[in-house]
Amino acid sequence: MNVRTRFAPSPTGFMHVGGIRTALFSWLYARKHGGQFILRIEDTDQERETEGSVGHIIESLKWLGIEYDEGPDIGGAHDPYFQSARLDLYKRYADQLIAAGFAYADPFTEEEVEALRAQAEAEKRPFLYREHRPETFDEWDGTRPLRFRVPEVKRYTWTDLVRGELTAGEEALDDFILIKTDGFPTYNFAHVVDDIEMEITHVMRGEEFISSTPKFLSLYEALDTAPPAFATMPVILGPDGKKKLSKRDGAKDILEYRDEGYLPQAMRNFLALVGWNPGTEQEVLSDDELTSAFDITRVQKSGGAFDEQKLLFINREWMRRLSDEDFILEGELEASSTSRLLAAVPLLKERASTFAEARGMLTRELACLFSTPSPERDPLIEKAPPEATKAHLQAFLGLIEGLPPLTHADMVKEALMPYADAIPKEAGGRGAALWPLRYALSGAERSPDPFTLIHILGANESLSRIKNAIDIL
Ligand code: GLU
Repeated sequence: MNVRTRFAPSPTGFMHVGGIRTALFSWLYARKHGGQFILRIEDTDQERETEGSVGHIIESLKWLGIEYDEGPDIGGAHDPYFQSARLDLYKRYADQLIAAGFAYADPFTEEEVEALRAQAEAEKRPFLYREHRPETFDEWDGTRPLRFRVPEVKRYTWTDLVRGELTAGEEALDDFILIKTDGFPTYNFAHVVDDIEMEITHVMRGEEFISSTPKFLSLYEALDTAPPAFATMPVILGPDGKKKLSKRDGAKDILEYRDEGYLPQAMRNFLALVGWNPGTEQEVLSDDELTSAFDITRVQKSGGAFDEQKLLFINREWMRRLSDEDFILEGELEASSTSRLLAAVPLLKERASTFAEARGMLTRELACLFSTPSPERDPLIEKAPPEATKAHLQAFLGLIEGLPPLTHADMVKEALMPYADAIPKEAGGRGAALWPLRYALSGAERSPDPFTLIHILGANESLSRIKNAIDIL
């Protein structure tokens, strides 16, 4: 069987992590089986549609690197991939159903249907439209909704690839609307037609669709077509694994993660682990590792926890695997000196979990690398009197001048530390020299250690900053 999966979002504006995780699993499954993954835009509810959503969906998938083989912007054998551009097709299927006696013009006005619903509610019984189905129907001219006539009222049992055997009784079946009076099909109708036409073999989606599955199955029966396999994705829960994921826990639009400086690779890796695991303890997985390990039967039935701490960990791991040059490119890092920025990357790799953090560090504790500091007198002499401080700084000048071209902060430390270590306790110990050195170089309360600063700034710049501090003293 040639596996074909699809992601079928409605263009309603927001791309939440749950939707993207479904897309990711569908993509992984198709990749794993050498099949195709399709993007289809379900835009039949014109009222809910928001401007720019389609672009947003495409941008999100592109950023995440979830590549589709067919879709609205790239076409494919089943063009078009917008439901709103496929109305003729739904009409053809509707005519086929009418001809077979499985669809009819709804004779009731909306108010009449409402009244029937209210009556059922008052009598405390479920409202089923099919119980009011008329004996004879007018020809359907589009001014009335077109309704499905359930071919056989019965219990359905089906196998969900994740949840196993599922079953629902007759109450789950009803004469639902196929085509609305605005000429657009309903979701229930259009997605079945499209999944048939686009030869979709595996449908993955959220659990809100389980209760409607008998309706879909009866429609497949009326169309005399075998349904695809269904796989229900687990809901995404907050980090405690109990409550539904809230905005604070990470229920954000996926592109917000891009803007906060997460790597798409890390996002794919992390999202794949929400509700699924490879069967080992391994947490950092490449696409190839994910694809070969991906097994739909290992998707959880119960909700998967969205643990932002784990996301940070995985993101940091992927950031560290970048070359220093790529780190700058991917993080869109900018600074006045490219060579110093490059030299600062190891520090950023050590400390930042997102590129937003890295960018923040460049403007805070690492800002001294890119602009000349203006140290003040008082902090310089915080650890030792002015004369002693001056002497320490002068000693460092000589040691730095004698350094070979700098290659590593450790070399600087080896050259300077013995001097600091030799300062007796009564005279303030090593801090008496290292504190003013670091402050002279950074002009800041917080910064990397002086050896790292000297290594990144280079001998000349370091010497000039130290001389400036001596002048102040
Ligand atoms: N358009 C539906 C949604 O966005 C798709 C559900 C499905 O995958 O069948 O919820």
